[in-house]
Amino acid sequence: MSGIRRPHEAVDYDLLTTRLPPPPEYLETAYLDDPETIADKQLTRLQDRARAAYEVPFFRRRWDAAGADPADLRSLSDLSGLPSYTVDDIRESIEAHPPYGDYQGVSVEQAAHQPMRVYMSGGTTGVSRPTLYTSWDREAGAILTARALYMQGIRPGDVVLNAWAYSTHNGAHAMDEALYRWLNCVVLSTGTGNVTPTRKQIELAVQYGSKAILTTGDYLLHLAETAREMGLDPTEDLQLRALPNIGDKERLSETFGAPVYDSYGFHEVQWVAIECPAGDGLHIFEDAFIVEIVAVESGELLPDGEQGAVCITEIYKTGSPQIRYNIMDLSALHPRSQCACGSWLRKMAPFAGRGDNMVKLRGVNIWPEALGEIATSVEGVGDDYFVVADRSNNRDEMTVKIVSDTDPAGFEALSERVAARLQEATGVRISAEVVAPGSLDHLTGFGSAAKLIRFRDDR
Ligand SMILES: [Zn+2]
Repeated sequence: MSGIRRPHEAVDYDLLTTRLPPPPEYLETAYLDDPETIADKQLTRLQDRARAAYEVPFFRRRWDAAGADPADLRSLSDLSGLPSYTVDDIRESIEAHPPYGDYQGVSVEQAAHQPMRVYMSGGTTGVSRPTLYTSWDREAGAILTARALYMQGIRPGDVVLNAWAYSTHNGAHAMDEALYRWLNCVVLSTGTGNVTPTRKQIELAVQYGSKAILTTGDYLLHLAETAREMGLDPTEDLQLRALPNIGDKERLSETFGAPVYDSYGFHEVQWVAIECPAGDGLHIFEDAFIVEIVAVESGELLPDGEQGAVCITEIYKTGSPQIRYNIMDLSALHPRSQCACGSWLRKMAPFAGRGDNMVKLRGVNIWPEALGEIATSVEGVGDDYFVVADRSNNRDEMTVKIVSDTDPAGFEALSERVAARLQEATGVRISAEVVAPGSLDHLTGFGSAAKLIRFRDDR
């Protein structure tokens, strides 16, 4: 068969590892680049990526409308002259050009020429946002993830439990690829507690001497509790060396006797930044990203130190570009200086919440309005709703309260139907509670507030 390229033909591995050194070489090379080298790499890579992005209809349309030309990128500060975009622009693109949108830069037909993958984010609003990854993008992303996992304490030869959900999104697969292909770790692909029961996860971790269990902090604390019930000591018997940064960091560190390093990343671009042992901010992988902070409302560039929305530009891919993607996560940039660890890589502050109303529930992005839309579309449910997030039994929980004018004797059965629909749509367990019409007015501010309140975070 002609035209088919195998992974080793699709990716120039020498070039890849020169551009993006994997760990542990990374810590002796790019991690210690001086500011001038960092800037030189960034500008060359940015110019390449911007030229490629201009060939993609989504970007060309937006840049032409703003009178922006990638040929004008002569210095890094010129980047802020290109228009940014948000998830709403991506949604519009998908609606107009289903199912891939016109922002990909590669098409699924090219998969015959080189191995490709597609992963999705979102979906709670009904439309999943796909990202196509070329072979190079998968490998490069896996190297970034491998760097972060190495910096968290995972070492070649370790056995690691991957307890993330192997699903349509990138998470579990990105970890898997990093561990297997770039860290030489042996992966036990246990998946979540629904796939491999919690007790079994603990048995495997103990039997195989696993050095990390990749999952949320909440689930890890639940594992610790179950381990105690099984007569085990989470510190002595589990011996985890690396811990996740999603959850109660102090308790995690105490429970397992290992440090927690803060980090930042998201599906489309993979791992962006991670804390070093010196703490005080997350070093950005600046050979792969340029991070800007912009004002939430206006999108204008903010000076160092000021908190705003993270606007991200990848400079490492060959497929789907992200150039000035305003992801609406809140953070701030530290001025560039040499860290106690020796690195000049720019630091960003840890995730400080959202610039819009998205909330994270057990690692999944949820828009409360989307939940309301799903819940109120169930037969017998009225138009009013209110969403509450809280913690019970050391776990993040979410409840959608809805109203119904049907017979209260049927409220419980109706709640179950709504909860089932919510789980179907989001993939996470969310409770539903049906109440009589008017019962939510004190929560939503109906009759008193100018804009109805639909969500409260009690965590
Ligand atoms: Zn440092």
